[in-house]
Amino acid sequence: MRSSGELLEVPISAIEHFSYCPRQCALIHIEQVFEENVFTIRGRLAHERIEAGEDTLSSGVRVVRSAPLWSERLGLRGVADAVELRPSGPYPVEYKVGRRRGRHADLQLCAQALCLEEMMGVEVHRGAVFYHAARRRYEVRFDAELRRRTEDAVENIRAMIEQTRLPPAPNDARCPNCSLINVCMPQVIGEPARLRGLKGALFHPWPGPGEGDD
Ligand code: SF4
Repeated sequence: MRSSGELLEVPISAIEHFSYCPRQCALIHIEQVFEENVFTIRGRLAHERIEAGEDTLSSGVRVVRSAPLWSERLGLRGVADAVELRPSGPYPVEYKVGRRRGRHADLQLCAQALCLEEMMGVEVHRGAVFYHAARRRYEVRFDAELRRRTEDAVENIRAMIEQTRLPPAPNDARCPNCSLINVCMPQVIGEPARLRGLKGALFHPWPGPGEGDD
């Protein structure tokens, strides 16, 4: 149980969900909804392979797999896919199955860097997201703007979870690739007039026996 003044813990994985769509984040982290689609299955299998991997030594750099991370200051907890322990400092690496779509994963990676800084008492300037579909490693610099966006996202997620608030559905280009589209029903929720019509039909009483027969 949380004592008063203690921050409600935000899972690091929630940051990418929130950045992609706040409603998706709320459905997963408040409503505990999870639906598989081809992207989530590929992602899960890829992460299982990473978790099964052992720590390695690559070009003299030790790579720690599935490293637990936390930040007391930000109230964050999660796991890094890999952390390269370079002479210049720790370098987090996050693996994604798909292609790069916006900076959503960068915020998640930046949260990992903020945790590593607090845990190890060092500065973390860069990390990378590896996209399997493109077989490309994309380096991310943790500048002031990305740090601010990441910390703002953590605060907004915490407020959303504490208020058990489900944001509206944007019903836009993000939805067709979202594994939660069948649960979320953005076409209905995003159109108030259609929703009102469906609600009315839902509670319209059936005619009793003999009623409605003219
Ligand atoms: S279907 Fe669209 S609105 Fe609903 S959670 Fe997914 S991205 Fe968000």
